[in-house]
Amino acid sequence: MSEILVLVDHVDGVVRKTTTELLTIARRLGEPSAVFVGSGYEQAKDTLVAFGAQKVYLLEEPELTEHLVAPKAEALAQLAERCQPAAILLTSSPEGKEIAGRLAIKLSSGLVTDVVDVVPGPDGSPVTTQSVFAGNYTVQARVTRGTPILTVKPNAATPETAPAQPVEEKAAVTISDAAKAARIVERAPRTQTGRPELTEAAIVVSGGRGVGSADSFALIEGLADALGGAVGASRAAVDSGWYPHAYQVGQTGKTVSPQLYVAAGISGAIQHRAGMQTSKTIAVVNKDPEAPIFEMADFGVVGDLHKVVPQATEEINQR
Ligand code: FAD
Repeated sequence: MSEILVLVDHVDGVVRKTTTELLTIARRLGEPSAVFVGSGYEQAKDTLVAFGAQKVYLLEEPELTEHLVAPKAEALAQLAERCQPAAILLTSSPEGKEIAGRLAIKLSSGLVTDVVDVVPGPDGSPVTTQSVFAGNYTVQARVTRGTPILTVKPNAATPETAPAQPVEEKAAVTISDAAKAARIVERAPRTQTGRPELTEAAIVVSGGRGVGSADSFALIEGLADALGGAVGASRAAVDSGWYPHAYQVGQTGKTVSPQLYVAAGISGAIQHRAGMQTSKTIAVVNKDPEAPIFEMADFGVVGDLHKVVPQATEEINQR
């Protein structure tokens, strides 16, 4: 069976959910091999085993994590030349996309970014789906040159366990001086909110201009916390300075695809939809019954969010 390389996305061994999604997709295409870069493998191991990694390549040279992405791209290229995988999957994060771009040059291979689905084609090679032009079109693509390199968006697949007993292999790689040109001098963790990461969350509660002020975003946070979800915001709310840009959902913000998306005080502009329209269930609170967001809602409440959202939060908290 063909080997599919999956670059593990982790922070000190804590594997991000996107990697479990990549391993699930990789199993559709062949036998997944996880590529673990850096330290913390002992902590990561259980997750990689549970989601079906048949092999784990351990790349532990300190240079790989002391510098920006260039050494990782070099290391992956050397590994790919050695094991000749049928495809390489990475998370569609800024880092994943930069590694993928550099890797594609090194391997003279085709690259597809921001993939939302992958299935095996008639010859077994991956056929990808992308959403383009603010979600107005979907495009099917296939890499026709070299090793298909795909960056896959979070929530493109539901992670499915398939316990395996992976073979572990320490992979030696050499890093050129050129790849070490930019060194990381400091790592500052993001402010911890205690909420799930926006792009990975199963539930997202977003507020828009209708929230009215930065202080009133406490209502959105309250509902998100009651549901165990993440907080999002429309661009209008972000541009008003009510919530940080890191939480903006939409064409120029993050793309989310949760099980439940709650849009409160958001009109449903095309640029906002582009970031949330693949949500499985959409619930809306808006005082205007004609708001376009109702066209895509599974559930909707016509009303003032300042009344509806606290009532819903209280009700959920009592359960
Ligand atoms: P509005 O459109 O003003 O809607 C506010 C809604 O709140 C209305 O429907 C109103 O009825 C309702 N409301 C008001 N008060 C209440 C209340 N008390 N209770 C309940 N409902 C209430 N937008 C994004 O969101 N994300 C993007 O990434 C993004 N990228 C863009 C990129 C480009 C190039 C451009 C041109 C625009 C982009 N936009 C983006 C902006 C987008 O076009 C809209 O302007 C924006 O989404 C509107 O945000 P909103 O729905 O919060 O505000």
